[in-house]
Amino acid sequence: MSYHKLLFSEMKLRTLGRTGWISRLCDGVSRRGKVCFSSCSPKVCVVGSGPAGFYTAQHLIKARKDVEVDIYEQLPVPFGLVRFGVAPDHPEVKNVINTFTQTARHSRCSFYGNVNVGKDVSVEELQQAYHAVVLCFSKFFLYMCVCVCVYVIRGMGVPGEDLAGVYSAKDFVGWYNGLPSCQELSPDLSCETAVILGQGNVALDVARVLLSPIDILKKTDITHPALEALAESQVRRVLIVGRRGPMQVACTIKELREMVNLPDTRPEMVVADFQGVIDALKDLPRPRKRLTQLLLKTALEIPGEMEQERRNKASRTWGFRFFRSPVKVLADPDHNRTAGIRLAVNRLEGSGEGACAMLTEEVEDVSCGLVISSIGYRSVPIDPSIPFDSHKAIVPNTMGRVQQAAGLYCSGWLKTGPTGVIATTMNNSFDTARSLMEDMDSGVLHISSAKPGSQTIRALLEKRGVKPVTFSNWEKIDSVEVKRGEATGKPREKLLTVEEMLQVART
Ligand code: FAD
Repeated sequence: MSYHKLLFSEMKLRTLGRTGWISRLCDGVSRRGKVCFSSCSPKVCVVGSGPAGFYTAQHLIKARKDVEVDIYEQLPVPFGLVRFGVAPDHPEVKNVINTFTQTARHSRCSFYGNVNVGKDVSVEELQQAYHAVVLCFSKFFLYMCVCVCVYVIRGMGVPGEDLAGVYSAKDFVGWYNGLPSCQELSPDLSCETAVILGQGNVALDVARVLLSPIDILKKTDITHPALEALAESQVRRVLIVGRRGPMQVACTIKELREMVNLPDTRPEMVVADFQGVIDALKDLPRPRKRLTQLLLKTALEIPGEMEQERRNKASRTWGFRFFRSPVKVLADPDHNRTAGIRLAVNRLEGSGEGACAMLTEEVEDVSCGLVISSIGYRSVPIDPSIPFDSHKAIVPNTMGRVQQAAGLYCSGWLKTGPTGVIATTMNNSFDTARSLMEDMDSGVLHISSAKPGSQTIRALLEKRGVKPVTFSNWEKIDSVEVKRGEATGKPREKLLTVEEMLQVART
């Protein structure tokens, strides 16, 4: 190490409040010229580089001047659902990437992409190398409640769900957002009507993407193949189906407002679905009340002249269909493709958020060529050694401390279940970081005994032929994507395969 680099690392350690002897133990300037800390720094490993991973790392690094955090991520690129979930026309949401980048560039934080924990390295091996391991990964499959309030099974759980033209929202979102494993999807958008099952924000994201004018989408980071397919799309009508009523929709007002204001579209609601809603309005809590008021206004109010004109000119429609559960996906005469969906008509038992949908004998068939199920996400375990509550689909924990597993913590959707936005994930990740630091201070975690951290893990990975992608490697991918996007007026053109990502990372 050159003299000025050594001096720099000494100065940096001093400004961080560390004493001079620690810098003498330093084994040099590591990846990207980062200062390597003493072997006796508390070493924390974070699994998963979505918001939970980054917010946990950020809080630990800010609150303690000695902690080193290594983030392991299965993909070569960071940021989880911020990159692969958040809709392309929500660039403001993706601004959190700037904060995550600052954390990743911090001298006490390292990123190791392209490392599949549970396959390339076990959680047990990580626990041996680090003082603490924080699980912030998510692997999802879709599920739905078949017997409406009781149990949960994998997939949609209705006959015909394997027909061409039926997709999960997870795959559809992954397809338009460039998730490598979803690029084969190539959904057939040649039909006029699409049915989305589920009425949460993800369902509305999908509806918006299906109906947005192409001029809006082409200025976003949506992938080029998705943009081309959507430009050719014949979908003109999207029905968003929910098993309960207008007072139980799971979306938020921002997403509903975006639908209401979407250019070149008009709402198409069933007035009868809103029976009794006006009377119930006064008893609703404020956020639910505002959401319901907007629904009522959209469904029942006669629009002003300008709005009426806008609606008349619109070439596309969207609408909620309430009190309906899928029973069967209907096939075309050749039994190859989706031709429609049979919906059971439900009645509600109880009221408010807890109201339960009960099937009636009545059914309704809706013609459509595309069915997208957006019923919910659910985590699955990545390593048999991790305690997992398969009923709640979370790692059982107390304030982020994994139960009966000393030194193991969890944050994000794995901790709470797949609910809430990035801000809620931030808060629950900060809570986990606080629990972890309390355990450091109280002696529950034995941080006085040195741990090797990434040194051991990197050696293990090398032996297994796994080459991690560092944050500076990711920055090469980032700059190629931004450059490709500039050529077409987009914020970025995402690389779509792991192979290409690795190739660019290693140039
Ligand atoms: P994730 O973001 O899923 O991150 C988990 C990370 O773990 C991923 O990077 C994954 O690759 C990695 N991982 C998985 N398995 C392994 C493994 N074996 N080894 C190593 N790494 C692994 N919130 C908003 O505020 N605004 C929005 O507009 C918004 N839109 C959304 C749209 C969709 C479609 C979805 C699904 C969610 C949206 N959210 C939005 C919610 C937000 O994305 C979540 O709150 C947040 O991403 C949860 O963070 P997380 O870190 O727990 O999970």
